[in-house]
Amino acid sequence: MRAMLFDGTSPLLREVELPNPAPAAGQLLIDVHACGVCRTDLHVVDGDLTRPKRPVIPGHEIVGTVAALGAGVTGFASGDRVGVPWLGHTCGHCRFCLRGRENLCDAPGFTGYTIDGGYAERTVADARYCFHLPRQYSDVEAAPLLCAGLIGYRTLALAGDAPCIGIYGFGAAAHIVAQVARHQGRMVYAFTRPGDTAAQQFALHLGAAWAGGSDEAPPEPLDAALLFAPVGALVPTALRAVVKGGVVVCGGIHMSDIPSFPYAWLWEERRIVSVANLTREDGAAFMAIAGKYKIEIETRRYPLAQANVALSDLREGCFTGAAVLTLR
Ligand SMILES: [Zn+2]
Ligand SMILES: [Zn+2]
Repeated sequence: MRAMLFDGTSPLLREVELPNPAPAAGQLLIDVHACGVCRTDLHVVDGDLTRPKRPVIPGHEIVGTVAALGAGVTGFASGDRVGVPWLGHTCGHCRFCLRGRENLCDAPGFTGYTIDGGYAERTVADARYCFHLPRQYSDVEAAPLLCAGLIGYRTLALAGDAPCIGIYGFGAAAHIVAQVARHQGRMVYAFTRPGDTAAQQFALHLGAAWAGGSDEAPPEPLDAALLFAPVGALVPTALRAVVKGGVVVCGGIHMSDIPSFPYAWLWEERRIVSVANLTREDGAAFMAIAGKYKIEIETRRYPLAQANVALSDLREGCFTGAAVLTLR
């Protein structure tokens, strides 16, 4: 099979021919049709996330069909469409797994980071962590649901019932989360890189009531702010925009350092929290929501061999929505 490989010595992936993987017990062999390109993949190749398997095939927003089943697989049949997310394995017996917080497992496996992912024609995945996908999305549209959508949804859930939400960084996750939040009847304000009028227009098109630069104040105070931009300086900015008791939820796996700020900005029970990974329960809840109506998914497609271009375009902010590698 053809695959794009990260060997740890350069941020550029190498196109290679590898033997097809064989499904072990409990695993699915998957013919990959599409794989989303997530900001986390950038953090892997840029060395911000320091413990990848080396070499590793990146990619954790995988959509394909089941080509073969390892022994003992239940819930999937040959030919089924399947989605593979970031969470690829948990231990099942640590204090976090036992308390329904498998996203914090002490011995996890992550697709496209510590387990080979979907920048390849084929992959194998533990069936217990895979999802069936709502029918109304094409393979390319479904790919961003698996991380941008799913971890975006967990980020939104940590905002509780906040009626008025600000979203900082209007990329792949934000464009899905904004639509879910609007569907839930919340008010959405979008913050982009200053001067990025294309992203601001995109946010307004998807139902944001206002869109502006991250250096601007929202038209009204926020009950919650969701941060998808990997910019630590936005944490105090967002904190100043939320009301008493408000929350700033950091949705990314990596962020530049947060500058110091006066305690008064945190005072009055404002909170800053981070989001780590996902649980299978999150996945089931989000796929149920995504299946109830049609979320508009904006994608920029690249052939597998152009994965480096896709990563570079994501780094430079060259497109709105989500980048997706296509394999057929
Ligand atoms: Zn565990
Ligand atoms: Zn991701």
